[in-house]
Amino acid sequence: VTGTEALGIDIGGTKLAAGRVDADGTVLARARRDTPASDAGAIVAAVADLVDDLGGAELPVGVGAAGLVGPDGEVRYAPNLALTGVPLRRQLADRLGSRVVVDNDANVAAWGEFRCGAARDAGASMVMLTIGTGVGGGLVLDGRLVRGAGGLAAEFGHMVVSAGGPRCGCGNLGCLEALASGTAIGRTAAAAVAAGRVPAGSSLHDLPALTGKSVTTAAEAGDEAALAVLAEVGRWLGVGIASLVNALDPEVVVIGGGAMQAGELLLAPARAAAEEHLLGRLHRALPPVVPAELGDDAGVVGAALLALAA
Ligand SMILES: [Zn+2]
Repeated sequence: VTGTEALGIDIGGTKLAAGRVDADGTVLARARRDTPASDAGAIVAAVADLVDDLGGAELPVGVGAAGLVGPDGEVRYAPNLALTGVPLRRQLADRLGSRVVVDNDANVAAWGEFRCGAARDAGASMVMLTIGTGVGGGLVLDGRLVRGAGGLAAEFGHMVVSAGGPRCGCGNLGCLEALASGTAIGRTAAAAVAAGRVPAGSSLHDLPALTGKSVTTAAEAGDEAALAVLAEVGRWLGVGIASLVNALDPEVVVIGGGAMQAGELLLAPARAAAEEHLLGRLHRALPPVVPAELGDDAGVVGAALLALAA
């Protein structure tokens, strides 16, 4: 079967998702486990168990890991996993005896969407943003993933879009992630409540916690204040998209992640703001800004396809 199937494994901070994937990107079998996040040896062992579960001995293995990954497959920095400084590709290859590639989780998800998902019809270029607790990024130019000189490229969540703006988890002020993530939806709603901008009848006053999910659910039920929060966050997303399009001129912009539960409630204001900030906007069109299609499979599919091509 060599050359026609591979395993894709997505190492997140809380779960390990794995799949056996064919060359068309079809997931033939799936397995998952909790991530033993605090122990590198246990993570390697859990990946080996998943390979066993899927009957994948001998198959090439692609891994996406939540962290900064160097071109040698060594994890340089992983804030939520005990993998900082771990030569993960070499350890897995030694353990499994098969061909292993390791890349950043957002990169492999972007590759999955580029090859088989929302950007499959794009010829050669795509920008992807994954809007969850934070904001991940992936970039394809000239038909190739762009990893940068040290594997650290495409951290679009940490583009500064509002200098002096709210504090980001990375320590800087005004990053896109601080203004347009799931976390930012909750924070923007809390700020609106604190500033007295939310009318007395709004359900935002009654929610036990203001989170991306709870505010989105309120907006879907028609709550005007919640809709305004999503519009504000969506506009910041659009400012980030405009900067990316101005810099990179991609064929398509793909938006994924848990916050995309809000769908057009975020994307419509994002497109409007992106068009306002687009260079030469009277003489060109904004590329399509579309939702991701593969959901949780994107990382598994992209990692497997990278392993097949390695
Ligand atoms: Zn940041």
